[in-house]
Amino acid sequence: MAVVKVSLIDALREHFGFDSFKGNQEIIIKSILAGKDTFVIMPTGGGKSLCYQLPALMSPGCALIVSPLIALMKNQVDLVRSYSSKDNVAHFLNSTLSKAQIKKVRTDLLAGKTKMLYVAPETLTKQENLDFFKELEISFIAVDEAHCISEWGHDFRPEYRRLKEMIEQINGNLPIIALTATATPKVQSDIVKNLGLRDPQVFLSSFNRPNLYYEIRPKRKKDQTIREIVKFIHQHKGKSGIIYTLNRKTTEELADMLVANNIKAVAYHAGLDAGTRAQRQDMFLHEDVDVIVATIAFGMGIDKPDVRFVIHYNIPKSLENYYQETGRAGRDGLEGICVCFYSYKDVQKLEHLMRDKPLSEREMGAQLINETVAYAESSACRRKVILHYFGEKYEESQCNNACDNCRNPKEKIEVKNRVVIVLNA
Ligand code: ADP
Ligand code: MG
Ligand code: ZN
Repeated sequence: MAVVKVSLIDALREHFGFDSFKGNQEIIIKSILAGKDTFVIMPTGGGKSLCYQLPALMSPGCALIVSPLIALMKNQVDLVRSYSSKDNVAHFLNSTLSKAQIKKVRTDLLAGKTKMLYVAPETLTKQENLDFFKELEISFIAVDEAHCISEWGHDFRPEYRRLKEMIEQINGNLPIIALTATATPKVQSDIVKNLGLRDPQVFLSSFNRPNLYYEIRPKRKKDQTIREIVKFIHQHKGKSGIIYTLNRKTTEELADMLVANNIKAVAYHAGLDAGTRAQRQDMFLHEDVDVIVATIAFGMGIDKPDVRFVIHYNIPKSLENYYQETGRAGRDGLEGICVCFYSYKDVQKLEHLMRDKPLSEREMGAQLINETVAYAESSACRRKVILHYFGEKYEESQCNNACDNCRNPKEKIEVKNRVVIVLNA
């Protein structure tokens, strides 16, 4: 039989219908196909999934994809299936499946029909699963959202720490691909160390999001802030936006206020039951509402390309969180406005939330908060501060006035009555 050599671009067209690769995708895929441990650091929306999905489709056997959130797994699998004519090309295996569903997944895997299996880290803690995987032909392991392995990341998950040990039980020689959208140099070295990446090929994309406009506004009284937000939304009528708040109660209050002001809005937080959460997320995705007022429980992996603004009603607990959360705006490359309200009172609230944590965690948390405060109080280019945080060189002359400080240079910033007053030059 003649061996038909398919070029990567042909494979891309065939499997996904895209005409070209984005950013570093092609060279990353080559590294994975060559069986090398690979570390991909690429901003949200950059197209990380395709980096493992295409090689998974092109390799013999099935790729195991570790993903932290059970809720997102179904979305991802549905998305993969939507590109293929065969539903069994991708499956997920987690605690939400019935016995019969698990059986179907296993049958497809054993028959070699499945190219991608999404698993939660918990799935790998079950010995019977590990034993089953040992019998399969696995092409490689992809660890998505790899920053979850680090306490310095914005979403530490202790189960990620055990991944290496579990992967070794399946087969110590499997290539490992780690992917993340946010990794400061500290988080990067944690990932390499904890996953035991062997001389990995590292692909670091720029974190700059030129289409996002960053702005800090002093937060004064509650009614005043809400009035500002209502005015902002009215100025962007019919556009999709996310408002992040620190606590659940505020999401409800704020959503009610917006509704009272003729804005289609819903609240979203982890205190709602799963059905309500899924329903509200869908309302936002399908544009039955324009604005979702949420705690950080909302957003990870949400792929709505035309979110036009992200407002932080409270300052986030780290710059990395801020980057991640604002990163949900303008994924389609068009305008994205990121406004963060800042008051020292909110900083104290964040500190208060950590009061019962062990000392080491409090110290770590305090350092992250201090970096955010420095960002908020800085008169330097916002983009420059953010990118330096990720270890990237950047000159403010490149910002193109796409932040408040470049647009309206400030002479000084004073902290008065715990409220930051910004004096324009
Ligand atoms: P990430 O995981 O890096 O945040 P995703 O993998 O979710 O990003 O991809 C973001 C979007 O980019 C998706 O809608 C995806 O379909 C799209 N995409 C990825 N690669 C390409 C490509 N080569 N051409 C066009 N669109 C792409
Ligand atoms: Mg992703
Ligand atoms: Zn700037």
